[in-house]
Amino acid sequence: MQMEEKKTTIREQALINQNFSILSSEEGLLPIKVSKFYKAKVDEEVLALGHTEGPLHRAVFPSKERITLRAPREKKDFVDDRENMQDDTHHSIIRKYEERILFLPTSNCLSNCQYCFRQDVLNEERGISKKISSLLEELVNYLNSHSEISEVILSGGDPMTLPFKGLKEIIEIIKNRTTVESIRLHTRSLIFNPSVFSENKMKLFGDYDIRLVSHIIHPYEICDVVKEYIEKLLNHNIRLYNQFPILRKVNDHSEVLIKHIKQLDEFRIRNLSIFIPDPINFSAAFRVRLSRLFSIIDEFNWNSPSWINSTRLVLDSVHGKVRREDLKSYDKENGIAIFERNGQQVTYPDLPEGMDDPGDLATLLWKDNY
Ligand code: SF4
Repeated sequence: MQMEEKKTTIREQALINQNFSILSSEEGLLPIKVSKFYKAKVDEEVLALGHTEGPLHRAVFPSKERITLRAPREKKDFVDDRENMQDDTHHSIIRKYEERILFLPTSNCLSNCQYCFRQDVLNEERGISKKISSLLEELVNYLNSHSEISEVILSGGDPMTLPFKGLKEIIEIIKNRTTVESIRLHTRSLIFNPSVFSENKMKLFGDYDIRLVSHIIHPYEICDVVKEYIEKLLNHNIRLYNQFPILRKVNDHSEVLIKHIKQLDEFRIRNLSIFIPDPINFSAAFRVRLSRLFSIIDEFNWNSPSWINSTRLVLDSVHGKVRREDLKSYDKENGIAIFERNGQQVTYPDLPEGMDDPGDLATLLWKDNY
């Protein structure tokens, strides 16, 4: 008979948090930071479960494995953002594609996600205040000398941490002084503190037809207050999208994915992509072995209608995103998968089998009585 593993208690968690604070400053990881709004949902989860291994807790607080588990061939920055940062733009423009760029006006977020794939760069930039007006001059110059770019993605950090004035300045300058057709804004603020979606910001986004892409990772991140704000965003005619990574013990089960995307669809939020987590330093606690990940996606596809499963499974890389369909070879024994995109190869070091301890449905969907 298999013994049930002992779950982490609140008292043990306090020590894990202390140890993580030391580790994060030594290893350049983002420190623990959780908004009051999100913490209330985490507290509800801990109270119901009686331990700290629930999906929302794991998203923002460290687990034991986050500190101790290291997979072979982890990298500081798998997608190599620095490699794609454009010269003379104060690390604010990343370009991997011919027709679009990422503009990073801030490295600040309302909470720090434990699984953040950009934490190395964000940690380095943390505390460096960026003057929006000078970044914008560089952005306009860059866009006007690269007229092939038709889309700007506002990312970070989280651009929703900027005040209305800063966002307005960015959006108006792009729309009025460049030939860019489309602006996307990526954020997790909708679930960390939806009140940052003030009336004037929502009107601005509606007026300029901004595509809002949330990174909601689990169905329980959407509470009644978040629902109210989704309604408000829809009333402002803002197009809503989502994308998220598959994370071990957070959402690594086809039933969680189906419930999550079904709920998003009910709120008129279209899920664009599901991400394979990057093999970065101290990420092993979140990673799912590729063969299991593909099985989860197969089950998800077989058991859901097309309006739920018409989403891409992608891996971000230094050459841009590769899809599951771009997989050229997978050597399970040696743990190496090779993807190919536009003639460029992406080598992905898989998570060793013994390290992949799946999340259990009773914990992942604890509100649903599994
Ligand atoms: S909100 Fe996004 S950028 Fe910020 S810590 Fe979370 S994953 Fe990273």
